[in-house]
Amino acid sequence: MSRKELRDRAKVLAKEHGYLQYMIERYLVLWGEQETLQFLEACEKPVKTSIRINTLKADQEVVIERMRRKKIILDRVPWLESGFYGDFADTSTPGAFLEHMLGFYYVQGVPSMTTVQVLDPQLEETVFDLAAAPGGKTTHIAQQMQNTGRVIAIEQDRQRLNSLESNILRCGVTNAIVYRGDAKKIQALNIQPDKILLDAPCSGEGLIPLDPTRKTSKTMADVHYCATRENEMLNAAISVLAPEGTIVYSTCSIAPEENEYIVDDILKRHPELKIVPIPLEFGSPGYTEPFGVHLNESLRLARRFLPHQDGTEGFFICKMKKEAA
Ligand code: SAM
Repeated sequence: MSRKELRDRAKVLAKEHGYLQYMIERYLVLWGEQETLQFLEACEKPVKTSIRINTLKADQEVVIERMRRKKIILDRVPWLESGFYGDFADTSTPGAFLEHMLGFYYVQGVPSMTTVQVLDPQLEETVFDLAAAPGGKTTHIAQQMQNTGRVIAIEQDRQRLNSLESNILRCGVTNAIVYRGDAKKIQALNIQPDKILLDAPCSGEGLIPLDPTRKTSKTMADVHYCATRENEMLNAAISVLAPEGTIVYSTCSIAPEENEYIVDDILKRHPELKIVPIPLEFGSPGYTEPFGVHLNESLRLARRFLPHQDGTEGFFICKMKKEAA
């Protein structure tokens, strides 16, 4: 397809599906026509609701039975320890049940739950959650650590701190310290965590199935703005990570500029860092040649989740380990 043909085709598809034209042009270059159409169709379908049963507050079987009595059947997500699909469509929103208010579960997307399982926090560790509000992953990390060790939950936005704090309280988390600040300046804390999660503030391009306004709300300049911030945050994170420590970088964006490009740049600047495999059948490998740009081959070990392939929102997860000092 010539550049002009591509632009013309993108213009038609953008009009039909309600997107900004530049986005469709990028999908056509990345995936070709057939996959682009599959993606656009999948983005019109609802994503299955999923929850994480919070074992800090309740036994899994007890929650499954309580919800069954309320006609909500929970189906285990095969690779997740505490993740379940639940059909809440005929009742009310999942957040309106007493069990939710009691902190027995957290309404959370499957890729988000997968991120913390990939981080694999252990008992008694020190873990940084660098972009923490509203706390889905902070509370999950605390759950995995059975409220031992310490989770330092960093959030810059004062307003969003309220939701973070209330979720920590609701979920019975007692090992988290909430710190309001800029994750780009975490060196000032003078702590070397064993593990870091950077679930970065991103352009949210993966959230189109959940939020159709994203089809028209962001320009390429927004994507570049987010990419610069993501790069700075990841650099700061790596500088404080303990030797042999693990870092997981995730976004709910599908733009390679916010995912593979960021990690590729970080690997060039930090030879002490290696990508480690994520042993999951779910998702697909990270890109190594998006838009014809050759990136580090090990980016294949990262995982991408896409609406048309995985039935989820779009998401990216990359796990890296720092060498011994
Ligand atoms: N991890 C959260 C969860 O699972 O509930 C979602 C995090 S959301 C994708 C990104 C968060 O990063 C937002 O709450 C945003 O306010 C915060 N943020 C943005 N810039 C930041 C910075 N420089 N330092 C710390 N937090 C920041």
